Parts: sequence; C-alpha cells; structure tokens
Amino acid sequence: MRLDVSKLKSNGDSEEFEFCENWEKIEFRGDNLFFVEPVSFYGVATKKGNVIEVSGNIKTKLKTSCYRCAEDTFVDVDVPFYEEYSNNAEIKDDEVIQFENDVIEFDENVIATIVLYLPMKYLCREDCKGLCPICGTNLNFGSCSCERDEIDPRLSILKTLKNMLDTDEKKEV
Ligand SMILES: [Zn+2]
Ligand SMILES: [Zn+2]
Repeated sequence: MRLDVSKLKSNGDSEEFEFCENWEKIEFRGDNLFFVEPVSFYGVATKKGNVIEVSGNIKTKLKTSCYRCAEDTFVDVDVPFYEEYSNNAEIKDDEVIQFENDVIEFDENVIATIVLYLPMKYLCREDCKGLCPICGTNLNFGSCSCERDEIDPRLSILKTLKNMLDTDEKKEV
C-alpha cells in the first residue's frame, strides 16, 4: 500500500486514497491470524506544514483459534487509522513517521494499527466452555463424565451450594 504524495505541495493540499489488497497472515503474541477477507484501507492524506496527516479506516476479517477450545475463530477488524508522516529529515518528533522521496509505504503501520485493536484473547463465542482438561471433549458440543470439580474452583463452589440445598430439601421432607 504505497501512496505517492508528490502532488501535495502546499499547506492544505489533500488527496483521497483507497487500497484493497489480499494479505496472507500476521503473527502476533505467538498467534497466527489469517486474513480471510481483503484488507481495505481508505482515507485522506493532507499536507499540514511539514507533515502529512493521514487519517482513514481499515477493514478486514481475520481467522485464528479460540483460546479455550481451539476451534476456528473470526475477528472482524473495522478500526480507525491516524498517523503523521514527513520526508523532512529535520522534523525530530517520535510521533512523526519518516518516509523517503515522495512515497509513503503504509503496510507496516496498517498492521501495527490492526494489532493495536486486537482483543487480549480470541474466543469463538463469549461463553465458550472450552475443552475438558482431562479427556479433551469440546464442552460446547457435548459433555463428559470426568470429575473436574477440583480443577475449576467456581464449579466446586456451585456444587457445595447445591449439596447444601439438597440437604436442606431432605430435612424439610
Ligand atoms: Zn471456543
Ligand atoms: Zn472429560
């Protein structure tokens, strides 16, 4: 995704752009995320003094694995993009990205923006029950007879409560 900004000469000059490319995947925090839709990036580049302000929007869809059950999980990406660029080497500002000649190369910043908005954990659905740690059954699709109480403290609390209730009921009878 390369934008030729040689036409942006005077303050206020701007140019709209639109890219749509097929990318393969990104690796982030040890996960592979595959692009299952083209990466669409559109926006506007505006010359403001010595910098070129670029604002826009990135849209695509990624496929990865659910953190709990390892099933395919999709992440919709629809995020804003904003960066400042300059090809003037005298601009010493960490926030301003340097580029050479008249062409801004966006790929790296587009990826950086996408990962900025990724969730901490990918889940196939909010309430994914995950896999049984003993037999590996996907608990979203079925149950197993493993005794898992000690592994999930929340379940064991529930069971204790249930036992207490059961006992109370028996007393009443
Ligand atoms: Zn899951
Ligand atoms: Zn099991």
